[in-house]
Amino acid sequence: MKIFILLSTVLIFNSALGQSQYNMTNSAHTHKPVLVIHGGAGTILKKNMTPEKEKAYSDGLKAALEKGYAILKAGGSSLDAVEAAVKVMEDNPLFNAGKGAVFTHEGTNELDAAIMDGKTLAAGAVAGVKTIRNPITAARAVMEHSPHVMMVGSGAEQFAAQHGITIVDPSYFYTEERWKALQRVKKEDSLKTELDHGSKKSNSGLLQPENRDSKYGTVGAVALDQHGDLAAATSTGGMTNKRWGRVGDAPIIGAGTYANNATCAISCTGWGEFFIRLVMAKTISDRMEFGQWSLQKAADEMIMKRLPALKGDGGLIAVDKQGNIAMPFCTEGMYRGYITADGKMEIRIYKE
Ligand code: ASP
Repeated sequence: MKIFILLSTVLIFNSALGQSQYNMTNSAHTHKPVLVIHGGAGTILKKNMTPEKEKAYSDGLKAALEKGYAILKAGGSSLDAVEAAVKVMEDNPLFNAGKGAVFTHEGTNELDAAIMDGKTLAAGAVAGVKTIRNPITAARAVMEHSPHVMMVGSGAEQFAAQHGITIVDPSYFYTEERWKALQRVKKEDSLKTELDHGSKKSNSGLLQPENRDSKYGTVGAVALDQHGDLAAATSTGGMTNKRWGRVGDAPIIGAGTYANNATCAISCTGWGEFFIRLVMAKTISDRMEFGQWSLQKAADEMIMKRLPALKGDGGLIAVDKQGNIAMPFCTEGMYRGYITADGKMEIRIYKE
């Protein structure tokens, strides 16, 4: 089947490239577009995957890459490309964003998203929204049609509706698989609480590593367009069993999402609390800007050293102003794909 031919080509091709970066430097004056996407990191092991499931994920990533790259190839902006690619994954129930988002403790879906324009440093984000079909489009509206960077909850929903963004009934986000995951996590959490002799401290589910959903399905995209402009976008349902209005790193500018033409564009996936504490994306950008580190070195330092040192986990995708890409992760796998400056599409899932 086509996708398996593609995947095996990718595996062979990538084994020669090293683990987390592929260099394809653009010349100083012309920019060949580059697009990188992710569909979340986590305990993604080949032995737990069926060929059908693997194909579904690969197809989902491919569809997002194709949509975003068509825009870049036609001379469109990196902003348009990352929004379009993320939207495709938001509409795909396989990923933890938009349709397919994980459930909160209360059995609702609360979505977060952010987008950033590397050229102007304009940014927009929404958090804790329950009725916006494509939160990434709402984040872009916040950036372009308001003086603010971040809106939350019902205010954000009202703003989105006023700007003609599609509003859906909360039931739109229901998927059986995510519902079952919530029941599983809740059960594990109550067992843990019993073991702790009734200590209420552990009753968060989210905070206990052994109770966490082992897969982060957040989606994201970063791009460099023909004009040399960078953009980043991230969208997520957050983490299973989250409560109390918890918001992760995805909509936090500088943590889960960041773009700056002077350095790079980054979208993260993983245990959000750690990405926030490490100010993940902006720290990588700062190491490049103020320390003259390469994207690869800065991204590896943060994801492969600093993040595990705090006992966090996850990964990220990034592209720099020359079109170099980095995709480090310290989990078993990360759904990811990219089209580099030479127009080659690659889709990868496991560590390899
Ligand atoms: N980073 C997201 C969060 O903490 C989760 C994910 O990557 O799936 O909300």
